[in-house]
Amino acid sequence: MSARTTVSIVAPVYNEAGNLRRFYEEVRAALEGAGLSWELLLVNDGSTDGSHELMLQLADADPRLRVISFARNFGHQIAVTAGIDYACGRAVILIDADLQDPPAVIPRLVAKWREGYDVVYAVRSERKGESFWKRFSARIFYRLIHRITDIDIPVDTGDFRLMDERVAVVLRQMREHHRFVRGMTSWVGYKQIGIEYVREQRVWGETKYPLRKMIAFALDAVTSFSFFPLQIMIYISFTLAILSLLVGVIISGLRLVMGEEFFGGQATTIILLLLLSSFQLFFLFIIGQYVARTYDESRDRPLYVVSSTYGLGEPLAPNQRIGIAPSSGQSGAGLVDQETMGVAGHGRV
Ligand code: UDP
Ligand code: MG
Repeated sequence: MSARTTVSIVAPVYNEAGNLRRFYEEVRAALEGAGLSWELLLVNDGSTDGSHELMLQLADADPRLRVISFARNFGHQIAVTAGIDYACGRAVILIDADLQDPPAVIPRLVAKWREGYDVVYAVRSERKGESFWKRFSARIFYRLIHRITDIDIPVDTGDFRLMDERVAVVLRQMREHHRFVRGMTSWVGYKQIGIEYVREQRVWGETKYPLRKMIAFALDAVTSFSFFPLQIMIYISFTLAILSLLVGVIISGLRLVMGEEFFGGQATTIILLLLLSSFQLFFLFIIGQYVARTYDESRDRPLYVVSSTYGLGEPLAPNQRIGIAPSSGQSGAGLVDQETMGVAGHGRV
């Protein structure tokens, strides 16, 4: 059996100084009993509160820790992506660093993986300590996404999940900028299963998802996996056309009976005009969302800028990573030794 790391734990970190030590200890405790080799990748997403120093301290004391530091804040989904890029385990686990996803659940994810599942996602059966508004909006959001997207994205499921390396290999090739990682893992396919867990309260600090960011995230989710908002316009336009025809006929009829003056006046006209313009502007906004994203993707900028790493080599190019045979002429220097490259390693440990 190769000495390759069995599981890579990926945790995005944005100003979590008060959580990090306890998070690391809980991860270690959860994995120690499971008899696995592991690494913990902490992705520092531009923290400004001393999280970075703390990560380096922890990594100094435990060689299983790796630190990837961004040049600025790139956002949660991008931080998770970088963790997947650098991970070299046979399975990759995504988990928040604020202890809302309890590390004690990790062995249950691993157990399902060993049964042969490629993606094991954790479903929130209960959410503790979150405001009514957050729970309500999340409930609506997950159900909306589930209904209008073309793929089967499970409801009440965040990024807390385990994926086999063959899923990670595909994700590493999906370089879209507006990322909805949980949808992207569903998109890959293979054998997927959910397990239930209780989402805990944030141990320290505040959520980094204010309303503005939640809306942007929801828009990314919808535009990434659905054309429904574009298609719905045709139904609305038909409905309005039929409605205007009906109203035209009715008013003409009434005028014949009740005289020319009936239903006259500019107020109605102005109100209708405003209503229709607001419809049109709304749909222009929707089209704009798709257009802006198309533009963003076409610029093809790198997804993130790494300012420093600790305990790691350079990430491999997508086609050089685990499970994909390296193409000739490119050096395979990096995380994975040549021996293990090209192995579509699917063996459970
Ligand atoms: N996070 C990040 N970059 C950001 C925002 C959040 O890396 O721009 C991390 C954060 O440190 C945490 C995880 O992503 O580990 C989830 O964020 P948060 O707890 O704020 O989201 P919530 O649980 O409230 O949805
Ligand atoms: Mg959280």
